[in-house]
Amino acid sequence: IIYSKKYINCSREELLEAVSQVMSPKRFTHVKGVEKAALELARQYRVDYEKVSIAALLHDYAKEQLDEEMRDIIISENMDLELLQYGNNIWHGPVGAILIRNRFNVTDSEILDAIRHHTVGAPQMGLIEQIIYVADYIEPNRIFEGVEEARALSKSSLKEAIAFSTLKTLKYLLEKNVKIYPRAIETYNAWVVQK
Ligand code: GDP
Ligand code: FE
Ligand code: FE
Ligand code: FE
Repeated sequence: IIYSKKYINCSREELLEAVSQVMSPKRFTHVKGVEKAALELARQYRVDYEKVSIAALLHDYAKEQLDEEMRDIIISENMDLELLQYGNNIWHGPVGAILIRNRFNVTDSEILDAIRHHTVGAPQMGLIEQIIYVADYIEPNRIFEGVEEARALSKSSLKEAIAFSTLKTLKYLLEKNVKIYPRAIETYNAWVVQK
């Protein structure tokens, strides 16, 4: 896959290098796995490869950025201050999208929304958002109970794969007694609950 530079002003190889410099080797391996899984879904569901590759390679870009810098962005960009009650696990999506826009001049809203929503999803998600959300869950390096079922579902229905991973993640968080980000409940209501 060769970038046209319509969406980011560097080659895929340069982007890989930039991403590898801000995270552990283990996380970088995960990111490359997300790209692989996402490109397979992009082929199946006929979505733009270049946008999907960029979103995948950047989705966890902010995961190891300093909390202080992330807090500053929440405040300076007038983001929802409720975010301050959470940590990087929640910030690296929405705050990461802003950081990426600023550092890489990415302005495409489908790419930025896919990064923004990859952790807790959103009630309405376009195909690129859906693909990154699912790819993050099923990428080849992931090993946990249910991942094979999620991979199988993703081949027949992206929507069913989203419902499955959303429910599993929420159940897991509830078992751990951690604070649930309200948007995660909205995603559950929209994608898991039968209408
Ligand atoms: P990763 O960045 O590839 O590790 O995966 P994600 O971005 O999907 O998730 C990052 C972390 O946030 C995971 O440990 C999730 O379990 C956790 N997480 C997701 N939703 C919530 C939530 O509503 N509340 C809390 N406290 N953690 C969450
Ligand atoms: Fe993430
Ligand atoms: Fe995820
Ligand atoms: Fe990830």
